Amino acid sequence: MKINYCPLCGTKTNSIHLGDEDLSLCPKCNKKYPSFNYTCVIIICINEEGNIAVIRQSYGVDRFVLVAGFVKPLEALEDCVKREVNEELGLNASNIRYLESIPMENTENLMCAFVCDVKGFISLSSEVKEIKFVKIDEAIKLLNSATIALKVVKDYARKL
Ligand SMILES: [Zn+2]
Repeated sequence: MKINYCPLCGTKTNSIHLGDEDLSLCPKCNKKYPSFNYTCVIIICINEEGNIAVIRQSYGVDRFVLVAGFVKPLEALEDCVKREVNEELGLNASNIRYLESIPMENTENLMCAFVCDVKGFISLSSEVKEIKFVKIDEAIKLLNSATIALKVVKDYARKL
């Protein structure tokens, strides 16, 4: 995403090229801004039986997805995984492993996929209306309309 207005002073920025980078320059602050992606995590949560959590959210399109969320400023990706799993499911994430990253063309989000083990008592946030822990084949079926989640689980299954 291109920075069209300076986040510090609100002045319209100018596009400049520096080496191989396209930057936005604030003519007032003289500050340069690279274009950016919002970073998100998407998480394969595995319970003690080895099953994967698929959830239905209480807003948006009614379909099964994986736990996911935006990374906060100054937050490590692994901490974001722990926070999202805890906020959405009430569970504790451990053994967090990076899988892959997927840039999304429509939103310009960078999805960073992780797998982790989850333990504890389920306590769903108001954003989640249903959770199912299912075998990987079943997860692939349930996630059929969630493009990114489906790719993440299929890629993960291929490496098992
Ligand atoms: Zn400025």
